[in-house]
Formats: sequence, structure tokens, C-alpha cells
Amino acid sequence: MAGILVFVEQRDGEIRKASLQAVSEAKRHGGAGGEVTAVLVGAGIGAAAAGLGAWGAARVFVADNPALGLYSAEGYTEAVAAAAAKAQPSAIFVAGTAMGRDLAPRVAARLGVGAIADVVKLALDGDAFTARRPIYSGKAFAEATTAGKRPQVISLRPNVFAAEESGGSAAVESLDGLGLAIRAVVKELVKAAGGELDVAEADIIVSGGRGIKGPENFALIKSLADALGGAVGASRAVVDAGWIAHSHQVGQTGKVVSPSLYVACGISGAIQHLAGMSSSKIIVAINKDPDAPIFKIADYGIVGDLFEVIPPMVAAIKAL
Ligand SMILES: Cc1cc2nc3c(=O)[nH]c(=O)nc-3n(C[C@H](O)[C@H](O)[C@H](O)COP(=O)(O)OP(=O)(O)OC[C@H]3O[C@@H](n4cnc5c(N)ncnc54)[C@H](O)[C@@H]3O)c2cc1C
Repeated sequence: MAGILVFVEQRDGEIRKASLQAVSEAKRHGGAGGEVTAVLVGAGIGAAAAGLGAWGAARVFVADNPALGLYSAEGYTEAVAAAAAKAQPSAIFVAGTAMGRDLAPRVAARLGVGAIADVVKLALDGDAFTARRPIYSGKAFAEATTAGKRPQVISLRPNVFAAEESGGSAAVESLDGLGLAIRAVVKELVKAAGGELDVAEADIIVSGGRGIKGPENFALIKSLADALGGAVGASRAVVDAGWIAHSHQVGQTGKVVSPSLYVACGISGAIQHLAGMSSSKIIVAINKDPDAPIFKIADYGIVGDLFEVIPPMVAAIKAL
């Protein structure tokens, strides 16, 4: 067994950034002594397959089937297992999105192998990866590997690993003859109204906490997010208060994000919030309390009243 199989997630035929990061990371590890193979699953998705060569895949299996148009844990597990049977990889990478977090343990259970979730760093020794993953809400890290059978199933935290084009081309093969026995069928996916940028996808996030005082002041947070071209995030305190939908919540019981820039406005920095954003590349905190814990992890701290700090920031960014 050698090589890395990467499950590539698409939405409406468009490859998700987190999956390109996973393919690139597989390529950076030289395919673990073999090829980087991708498996793309869905309906009417063939056009996206060849482009994966540019990101490091040498081979792409496409499971294109109307029954796989919407995510099905059973159907997608079947497709990944079939691709693994052909590629015989020593590792399977999955982007740790909502879909990937559901799929990775199922694939591991199907193959009877070990899985490591939410990985932020990988080291290859022979054909075995040792993976670093945050534990205790990000207060510590564990180094984990899997014993025994291969492949190792590994889910990678989105936005931690770089997506890098390496300029190759991929051989595309269709994955036919899947024994699909789908008992739980997803009938419809209803998108949130408004077409807002999802915090899990965004490269820049501006989040508001209880310090914004009321739901109407999310307009101020949004003005900064819009000026920066980012998404609006939130602490749990304001989600619980009903000021903004849970889809915006960052943290242990919300979304885990790793944007290039995270601006925390009126957020104290409780450990459960940090669990969701501490791996952001640059953290800026605006808080009127100089002792707020958020300043311990911030790269830039602004001690001040957010209602006075944000409007001139927005004006300055717009002027740029
Ligand atoms: C099991 C569990 C899971 C949890 N999961 C999450 C989670 O996923 N995400 C999450 O966020 N929390 C989570 N929490 C809650 C967490 O413990 C905190 O209660 C929460 O993060 C606090 O939100 P906050 O920072 O907005 O509010 P606060 O802690 O009340 O902080 C408000 C901050 O605003 C500052 N401030 C006030 N006025 C101004 C102003 N005018 N200008 C500038 N600054 C100002 C204050 O100095 C203060 O630091 C969880 C808790 C538990 C127990």
C-alpha cells in the first residue's frame, strides 16, 4: 500500500477550497511514497475532475451518479471505499468540513482502520503519518498515529494547510458499478436566505460578542466585515441571546475557523470561543477591558470602545 487518496468535496460542481488544501497537502508529502489520487463524488460533476491535476492529483476517480447528487453518508462511503480498493492508498485525507467530519469515521469503520480527526499538522515517517490535533478546546495538542492496518483515515482542519497549485495533470477514470444501497436519502438542501458568506469558508471574519450591546449593532460589525470583504461571526453569548443565527457562531459548539484575519469585537475570549478561532493566522481584538483574555492570543490588540474604534477603521479601510 502506498499513496494518498483524497476525498474531494464539491458543491454545485465547484470544488471546495478545503479539499484543494487536502490535495495540496497530500502532494507536499510526496503522495506518501506513491500517487495522489482524488475521488470526486456527486451528480453531473465530471467537468471539475481534470482541474484537480493542477493541485497535485495524478489520478481522479469520479463517482458521478444521480443518487449521489446530495450528500449521503452511505453512498459517499461506498464511493470512497471503492476508490480505496482500486488505489490501495496508505492514507485517506478528507477535509474536516461538516461533510468530511461525518464521512471520515464512516470510511474508517467500513475499512476497519483507524481515523484521526481535526488535524492541524502532519509528519510522515515511512508510510505512517503522525498527526497533531488540538485537544481540551485547543489548550493542548496531541500527537496521534494509527496502529495496524492501512490506510490511515485523516481529516484535516480547513484553512490550516495551504492550497498550492503544482501545475500537473490528472488521468480521470469513472468509478462505475458501485453497490449503492442508500437507506437514508437527503431530499433537499435548503440554503440560508441572503447568500451571506459562510464563516467556515471565509478568509476574513469579523465577529461580534456581548460587547456590541444589542442585535441592532451587528450592523456595525457587518460594516467592518463588508469593508474587509469578510464574513460576520459571533460568540455563543450573542447567539444564545437570539441576536444572530447559530450558523455564525464560532467556537467549541459553533464552527471551527482558521481565516487569514479574525477580528474579535467585544468578545472576552472564553476558552470555548478560542477553541474555534485560535488557529487563525492573524487575530485582532477590540475590547475595552485591557485584561480581557482575548488579548493573550491576539496579534494586535486595540483597547477601546468598539463603538468609537470601528467607524474610523471602516472609513480608513474604505479610503484605502
Ligand atoms: C459547553 C460550552 C460550550 C460553549 N461554546 C461556545 C462557543 O462555541 N462559542 C463561544 O463564543 N462561546 C461558547 N461558550 C460560552 C463561553 O464560555 C462564553 O460565555 C462566551 O464566549 C462569552 O461571549 P462574549 O465574549 O461575547 O461575552 P462576554 O464574556 O460577556 O464578553 C464581552 C466582552 O465585551 C467587552 N466589551 C463590553 N463593552 C465593550 C465595548 N463597548 N467595546 C469593546 N469591548 C466591550 C467586555 O470587556 C468583555 O470582554 C460555551 C460555553 C460552554 C459551557
